[in-house]
Amino acid sequence: MSISLNGLNPAQCFIGGVWCDPVAGDTLELINPSDASHLCNIAKGGAEDIDRAVAAAETAMRGDWGRSTAVERSRILYKTGQLVLDHIDQLAEFEAKDVGKPLKQARADVVALARYMEFYAGAADKIHGATIPYLDGYTVYTLRQPHGVTGHIVPWNYPMQIIGRSVGAALAMGNACVLKPAEEACLTALYFAELMSQAGLPAGALNVVPGLGAEAGAALSGHEGIHHMSFTGSVGVGKLIQQSAGANVVPVTLELGGKSPQLVFDDAGIDAALPFLVNAGIQNAGQTCSASSRILVQRGVYDQVLTRMAQRYGALRAGPAMDDFDVGPLVSNRQKDIVEGFLKRGSDLKVAAQGAVVGDAPIGGAYVAPTLFESVSPDHALAQDEIFGPVQVIIPFETEEEALAIANGTKFGLVASVWSADGARQMRLAKALRAGQVFLNNYGAGGGVELPFGGTGLSGHGREKGFEALYGFSSLKTVAALHG
Ligand code: NAP
Ligand code: MG
Repeated sequence: MSISLNGLNPAQCFIGGVWCDPVAGDTLELINPSDASHLCNIAKGGAEDIDRAVAAAETAMRGDWGRSTAVERSRILYKTGQLVLDHIDQLAEFEAKDVGKPLKQARADVVALARYMEFYAGAADKIHGATIPYLDGYTVYTLRQPHGVTGHIVPWNYPMQIIGRSVGAALAMGNACVLKPAEEACLTALYFAELMSQAGLPAGALNVVPGLGAEAGAALSGHEGIHHMSFTGSVGVGKLIQQSAGANVVPVTLELGGKSPQLVFDDAGIDAALPFLVNAGIQNAGQTCSASSRILVQRGVYDQVLTRMAQRYGALRAGPAMDDFDVGPLVSNRQKDIVEGFLKRGSDLKVAAQGAVVGDAPIGGAYVAPTLFESVSPDHALAQDEIFGPVQVIIPFETEEEALAIANGTKFGLVASVWSADGARQMRLAKALRAGQVFLNNYGAGGGVELPFGGTGLSGHGREKGFEALYGFSSLKTVAALHG
């Protein structure tokens, strides 16, 4: 084993507050995508382990955790945030080796995880119901209560951020969680469970069962003991989750990615826009649900934006995550094959510029050179489908109307941005763009723990992050008292 988890055995599940072997005793290999080396074996949990995890969560809900006050939950979350920051070096190293995330980006994810803990610690005791004027002789009020046991299936691209936003909010509202991390990246999920335990989280309030999606994941999303499902990942699996949870009439939050555009108008501040235009496409090697993979540019500044983006691409370097290049490897060679398949489908397009994979990048690493395509037609596959790699397309447009039609012309609707000095245009487009978040003269807003996030169309439904997540992770009860 070439990674030490500070005494944790990564081949175990965390259930009912204790580390335990999966019932079937099976394991999966975890691979470092920077050099294809074997990192360690992880538990291959299955349906029986999910059963045990759900039972442990139910026990927690019937016990101390179910009776916990918002202040008690707040303190545990806050302490977890502090422990996360204390362990930033370990967590960032695990994520860099597991996901292939350049070290600086991995450290930013650790800080974001801590921010989620701090935010939901602060929010836990600030969510309350209302009193409602009603008939004479009545007092009516509402209570916000936990759903009960919540299921969380997270992908490999931002394990810490996605665990922070979904598990953090669910625990703040007093739910007990069962988490199935992605088979390709689950070290930080395991380490996080240990830190929560050290912060005083009662047994069973958070349970982690690593394993395959089709086994542990399917068992979780279809489990009758689950009262809410939170899923982030692909559209295809999102549909399966919605169906299996639907069979038990369980509410689902789906966050399924996008094809998010940035609209650059002739009156935009190009100097300010440039870093956002490129970084939003290559951060985490483009494996970001809110990646901006389409850059729509008005004719008057098209040549300038193209030239300057191409210059930046030409300077990009992809290499091992621990050496902290602009771009790391993709999470796996499987993902690399998917992205290379897209690049082949773009063989009819003009490449504006490509970054380079460093010469001494280890053989077998999942590297793809960042690639920028120019003059792409809005209906081309590379302008319509989510690639999930360091690939961006530039699409020219003439008018605001045309830009809006192109921007809204995919099946997705997650994030969009408008670069323009015209305030009226900003307001018009902010309303008309099909997206869960619109940024004006910026993109992505640095993680945005406080900002409600989610999509429309194939990008999914439901909102996480910010206070909004707390409504999703709770159930509203109306109490009507007739007292005369
Ligand atoms: P995925 O298959 O949707 O995986 C996401 C999570 O769902 C993982 O934990 C996965 O487990 C689990 N899962 C898979 N099949 C399942 C099933 N039948 N029932 C329950 N859970 C299941 O995504 P992926 O294969 O990792 O990536 C493929 C594509 O998804 C990407 O190319 C990208 O387009 C999209 N994606 C989007 C996001 C996003 O943030 N929106 C994130 C990741 C991927 P295992 O991986 O352990 O099998
Ligand atoms: Mg991995």
